[in-house]
Amino acid sequence: MTENPKGTLILSTDYELFFHRSGTVQRCLLEPAERLLDFTARQGMKMTFFVDTGMLRSLDRHAAEHRELAREAEAIRTQLRRISAAGHELGLHIHPHWEDTRLSSGEWDFSATRYRLDMFSEEEVVNLLETNFALLQALSDDPVVSYRAGGFCIEPFERIGPTLARLGITVDSSVVPGTRLNDPQKGFDASAAPDEPCWRFDDSPRHPAPDGAFCEVAITPLTVGRFYFWGRLLNRLTGSRGGEHFGDGVSKAIGRTEVVRRLLGQSRVSELSMDDAKSQLLPHALAAAPARRAWHVMGHPKLLSERSLQRLEDFATAADVADGVTVGAFASHCQGT
Ligand SMILES: [Zn+2]
Repeated sequence: MTENPKGTLILSTDYELFFHRSGTVQRCLLEPAERLLDFTARQGMKMTFFVDTGMLRSLDRHAAEHRELAREAEAIRTQLRRISAAGHELGLHIHPHWEDTRLSSGEWDFSATRYRLDMFSEEEVVNLLETNFALLQALSDDPVVSYRAGGFCIEPFERIGPTLARLGITVDSSVVPGTRLNDPQKGFDASAAPDEPCWRFDDSPRHPAPDGAFCEVAITPLTVGRFYFWGRLLNRLTGSRGGEHFGDGVSKAIGRTEVVRRLLGQSRVSELSMDDAKSQLLPHALAAAPARRAWHVMGHPKLLSERSLQRLEDFATAADVADGVTVGAFASHCQGT
């Protein structure tokens, strides 16, 4: 790989609904994804859309009795085919709790009992990976090679690694180095992962292996102080949430203990994000790591806003990157490292 003094921007987004009150496909996916496509076209960049295929399968499951869901599933497929045809990457993103989620009076009744893939049997895990992969591959012009675990819950990787390899998926992008979530259901631990843009591994993305069969394309970490969480709380209390993200759904509120921990705790590591609230941290990322040459900013169409798209554009300008690439394309630079 030739030395690129200007650096690289990797953009990825989780193409999914909200998991509490889902919101609409139109507002959470179709419209904001178009805004991202406009952005990347203007900037001459390519990016990765990690598609929550469980959502699409759930729409399909109910399509026969709900014509609206059939139309939404078709609109999603049409958009994803267009995204792929435009040279962007479609990556696999599995939120397995869709398997236990049912439609109730026109609303998705989410169950988070089995939030992580490792909460399913070995046979179910293989079946879920194969089924979701086949659905996505049918929409993609290119071989699907990249994966992001729902909620960053990539471990235990040995439960999925052999099947991913068999399907041709050799790139993971579920790690934000330095992050950890203590939660019996949704927990993960990437606190020991190296703060590198990418590395090779075999058994676990937490353990780099120079000749490993897989490549981790990490999401850029950023240390966030308490001031950020106090600012968000203040916005909430004063009713000035500010950004009004494009998506019309609602996430499940975090627990009271976690709120207190964030407000009173030490600085913590978060992912570099183009989402409405977190995008205010983008300028800080540049100041915090001026020598960084590869930036991986992630986000969600549902959580984008006018101001966060502007901040992303400002960030791309300020970071002075030479190109914007997909997760899969960036991984190919990491071969042999
Ligand atoms: Zn997700």
